[in-house]
Amino acid sequence: MASVISPPSSLRIYFRLLSYVRPYVGTFAVSILGFMIFASSQPMLAGVMKYFVDGLGGATEGLQLGVPFLDGIDLVKAVPVMIVLIAIWQGVGSYLGNYFMSKVSLGLVHDLRLALFDSMLRLPNHYFDRHNSGHLISRITFNVTMVTAAATDAIKIVIREGLSVVFLFGYLIWMNWKLTLVMVAVLPVISVLVSRASRKFRKQAKKIQRAMGDVTHVVSETIQGYRVVRSFGGEDYESRRFREASENNTRKQLRMGKTNATYTPMLQVVIYSAMSVVLFLVLLLRGDASAGDLVAYITAAAMLPKPIRQLSEVSSKIQRGVAGAESIFEQLDEPSEADSGTVARERVEGRIEVRGLSFRYPGTEREVLHELSFDVQPGQMVALVGRSGSGKSTLASLFTRFYDHDCGELCIDGVDVRDYTLRNLRRHVALVSQQVTLFNDTVANNIAYGDLADAPREAIEAAVEAAAAKEFIDRLPNGLDTEIGENGVMLSGGQRQRLAIARALLKNAPILILDEATSALDTESERLIQAAIERLMVGRTTIVIAHRLSTIEKADQILVMENGRIVERGTHAELSVRGGPYARLQAVGGEEYGN
Ligand code: ATP
Ligand code: MG
Repeated sequence: MASVISPPSSLRIYFRLLSYVRPYVGTFAVSILGFMIFASSQPMLAGVMKYFVDGLGGATEGLQLGVPFLDGIDLVKAVPVMIVLIAIWQGVGSYLGNYFMSKVSLGLVHDLRLALFDSMLRLPNHYFDRHNSGHLISRITFNVTMVTAAATDAIKIVIREGLSVVFLFGYLIWMNWKLTLVMVAVLPVISVLVSRASRKFRKQAKKIQRAMGDVTHVVSETIQGYRVVRSFGGEDYESRRFREASENNTRKQLRMGKTNATYTPMLQVVIYSAMSVVLFLVLLLRGDASAGDLVAYITAAAMLPKPIRQLSEVSSKIQRGVAGAESIFEQLDEPSEADSGTVARERVEGRIEVRGLSFRYPGTEREVLHELSFDVQPGQMVALVGRSGSGKSTLASLFTRFYDHDCGELCIDGVDVRDYTLRNLRRHVALVSQQVTLFNDTVANNIAYGDLADAPREAIEAAVEAAAAKEFIDRLPNGLDTEIGENGVMLSGGQRQRLAIARALLKNAPILILDEATSALDTESERLIQAAIERLMVGRTTIVIAHRLSTIEKADQILVMENGRIVERGTHAELSVRGGPYARLQAVGGEEYGN
């Protein structure tokens, strides 16, 4: 009864949540049956009191249940036995109800977690630009649990306590309907209180969630950046920031607790006032009821407040869950990466044509790439140079469609990248990005990652060799099978880069994009890799974004970028004598080229 008074939108969310219960209908039904058994024991306990009191008063009625060996037993003497039997009956109900409901709710947690995680794998790049990881993580860990509290605990209470109320009420009406009508008069007062509380709860629950996300966010940022925190003396700042986030969370939880703590006793007062009215009326409207009847009646009436109170609390549970579900469904409803392309090629030649390509990051004003046009023939090598922030990495990310370009064309083998299926497109492009990402796994598994997981050992070794990584991998305790820690913490910057290069080389894609992949290497390793890349470039279209790599000088074409435009193009020989931007970049030295 308590949950009915909520706005329609939250009802919709709640029903959607319940749709996740569908696979567990059988288990759910058993659990409900259990709660029904439990609830039915409530009026029985009150009923037994009648026999006991009447028995004490001298009435000796024999038991008439139609059960052969029980019939005729003196009722007073049967009361203790009956109480035990009722307790067992109640226990069975309680067990069935609780156990099977846990099964449903844990299954639900699992399903929601999976759904969220899978949606995360499909969400477009810009979603991660806009949402911080702490909030995404806490959605999976914290919200989900809260949500199931609504979906299952709430149902548990609604059914168990709701039925208790119904049964007790039925019993009361059966015993004395006039008295019972007085109780009914009190109910609207209760529901008004309940509905007011529930609205307040929902608002607060949402705030708590956000505050929880902030807590996770600060923690994960500090863990990831602990070196920066230590070396720049950021301890106090981070500690303060965390304290604020945590205090904020505590404050909000406390406010929720306060609302809870205020409304529950208020409700109690209302209920007990009703009880005293009932007691008064019992004396007034006693009629020809026996002492046992009256005691049983009052016992049943006294059992009512507890389930009613629990029902009143259920609404806060549901509101909390609905608030959690709202953000979960928001993420689930978020459109996946656009993948409307239909072209899937076994292998492309690697011919790249860019025509009037412009791009701005979703949700921003500034055009980061402005009307770029250039061609790259299969097997050619293009070098992108230009100041930091000129848009080189952005251009690289358009090839794998981490973002979709706004206007112009970006064609591979004459087909716009948007017309390829995402999976197929990404198979053709091997990208070594500026930020190397490694997984907490062995060296070999990091190189043979994802689609490459089945790569033969020899192929991995060849890639390692080509990426000039063999020498340092051989020195690791277990060679290729060494675990490298979270994001490869046990490796140096240059070693991490070489692993990333090996990964890209193993992919053996017709288009290779190296975004400053060699910036952390010493001259010797760079020379080795350069030799490897030169070997690999044969039959492969390569785009290199780098400043030191002398391969730039051998590039078939150098594109000089400035503020998202190509301001100069040509070979090294042409550009260095022209005295334009390229020559200027060269003159100020390596750093100015790229990073
Ligand atoms: P560097 O040599 O330092 O790597 P870059 O040429 O690779 O620089 P980009 O990373 O392409 O530069 O960035 C180009 C511009 O786009 C920058 O001004 C940057 O502020 C902006 N930018 C980059 N990533 C995003 C993003 N996810 N959302 C919005 N703007 C972005
Ligand atoms: Mg960059």
